[in-house]
Amino acid sequence: MKIIQAKTPNFNSRKPSNKITSVIIHHTQLKNSEQVYKIFESSASKVSSHYLIDRGGDVHQFVDENKKAWHAGVSTWGGVDGLNDTSIGIELDNNGEEEFSAPLMKSLIELTKAIVIKHNIDERLILGHSDIAYWRKVDPSHYFCWKTLADNSLGFFPTHSEKSPKTIFKLNGTHVQIPSIKEKLGKIGYKIFDYSSKIDQKTYSLLKAFKRRYDPKTYNEDVWDSQSQGRLEEILKRYDK
Ligand SMILES: [Zn+2]
Repeated sequence: MKIIQAKTPNFNSRKPSNKITSVIIHHTQLKNSEQVYKIFESSASKVSSHYLIDRGGDVHQFVDENKKAWHAGVSTWGGVDGLNDTSIGIELDNNGEEEFSAPLMKSLIELTKAIVIKHNIDERLILGHSDIAYWRKVDPSHYFCWKTLADNSLGFFPTHSEKSPKTIFKLNGTHVQIPSIKEKLGKIGYKIFDYSSKIDQKTYSLLKAFKRRYDPKTYNEDVWDSQSQGRLEEILKRYDK
């Protein structure tokens, strides 16, 4: 894994009390890494990340891990707001509508492993931007394979699988199951805005965020089915002690 040092004006100091506790994964939604350089090098953009991994698998470091990069924005996980304070941000060179390249994934696994060991990061805190800001962000996309990370001891991926999952409800209207699903997603760490049984915009985005990460095969179908539900229960079982 080659690490290329790069520069950005978009960072500041971490507070001494802000220990690094999480890794946040993004995709750039751009055509190539040159476009990322343009944005990160411009002070007007006010965005950066610690690392960028390009399609060829090279790692570009823009911000020292001890400094605060500006990648997460308004975000919440496990009741804690503002994940920039305590996270390391990794941008993946991907336009959001394509598979993530094999060299990129290989470097991501190597880099994430090193970060997790160095900062003793809990497996529950290897997160996507769409986990911590699902109401406004969809990265990394459903093409990103969280199972591959889990297979490399980076996080947990549920194994519950069904041949023909049954639709529990479609992602519109009002359903009695919604409050209890929200409660469970909240226990995992997702921010819950209210416990109403109506699928409003935020609830829709929340359920899609879970599917994007944990049940990506049916991501494009606007349904909550028995496989998604089973996977949610399996994650809870692992952590709900
Ligand atoms: Zn992002």
